[in-house]
Amino acid sequence: MVRLSAITPSGPVQLGNYLGAVRRWAVDGGEDDVYFISDLHAMTTSHNPSRLRALAREQLAVLIAAGVDPRSVSVQSDLVRELGALTWVLECTCTYGEAARMVQFKEKSVGRPSVRLSLLTYPVLMAADILLQGAHEVPVGDDQRQHVELARALARRFNGTYGEVFVVPRAVVPPTAARVRDLADPSRKMDKSAKDAAGTVFVLDPPDLVRRKIRRAVTDELAQVRYAPEEQPGVANLLEVLAACTGKEPKDLADGFTTYHELKEATAEAVVEELRPVRERTRQLLDDPAELDRVRAHGAERTRDRCRHRLDAALRLTGL
Ligand code: ADP
Repeated sequence: MVRLSAITPSGPVQLGNYLGAVRRWAVDGGEDDVYFISDLHAMTTSHNPSRLRALAREQLAVLIAAGVDPRSVSVQSDLVRELGALTWVLECTCTYGEAARMVQFKEKSVGRPSVRLSLLTYPVLMAADILLQGAHEVPVGDDQRQHVELARALARRFNGTYGEVFVVPRAVVPPTAARVRDLADPSRKMDKSAKDAAGTVFVLDPPDLVRRKIRRAVTDELAQVRYAPEEQPGVANLLEVLAACTGKEPKDLADGFTTYHELKEATAEAVVEELRPVRERTRQLLDDPAELDRVRAHGAERTRDRCRHRLDAALRLTGL
């Protein structure tokens, strides 16, 4: 059984990515799973080439440092030729109406004076990611469910029209994982590409910066530590982060604090300790470019080998 997940290098890995996704990939993931840095997806809106390259490399280092099986990790652009070829075949299997119906496209394109065509077609690239690797399960939040449904429809259509090549993937709900909110605005989720990084803890932030950001986290005027996500989202967020770092329940943790100051200090220390080994190992990997290149090349080769027969079959059956 192959599970597939990705992280987009649109910013440095943040605490939410780590607690909600990367840490889980390290614990639950097997060598057959596919975890990749989706640098091609980071180009659907304006981007800076050297920053994109540096971020992809840094994210790769964080995944390996966090303990994700290196055999399951790759960088999407290392397969750009294979993915480009399959995307074209799938675009010739997909209708304009299907692409234009995607809610994310409507949301992200509205009000922009100019929209890259790739913003419209990126769900087809995502289908190529999934189908090329023969993924059975794609753990996704609600925002990506429609895209996996498209991949499903395209797999069925291709198989029915040309011959059985693709596994028909399923969107699955990821196991309940922490959903980390922005520290400065707890109504939003923590996001690596947020305009104002004051509310975002990055995995590679030095410990003192992590402490400062958490001490400044927005709470409320109620002055009582309770786990009440609706009424006290800022406090609930801190309790959830602390819970994710300590393996305890947010509700139980709330009883142990009387002031927000105590809660923030405990959360800051727990986060610093949780991130310390990942940060240190990431730094080591970034300081040893040859080793990181070797891991990357190996991941790319393994991923390419696994998908070659599927791409060859798809090209042959469509008459190419
Ligand atoms: P971002 O929204 O930071 O750009 P990505 O879209 O690259 O993140 O998602 C990478 C993984 O991190 C996904 O599995 C996503 O569900 C998870 N993730 C992103 N933000 C958070 C968050 N604030 N809390 C928990 N998980 C998150």
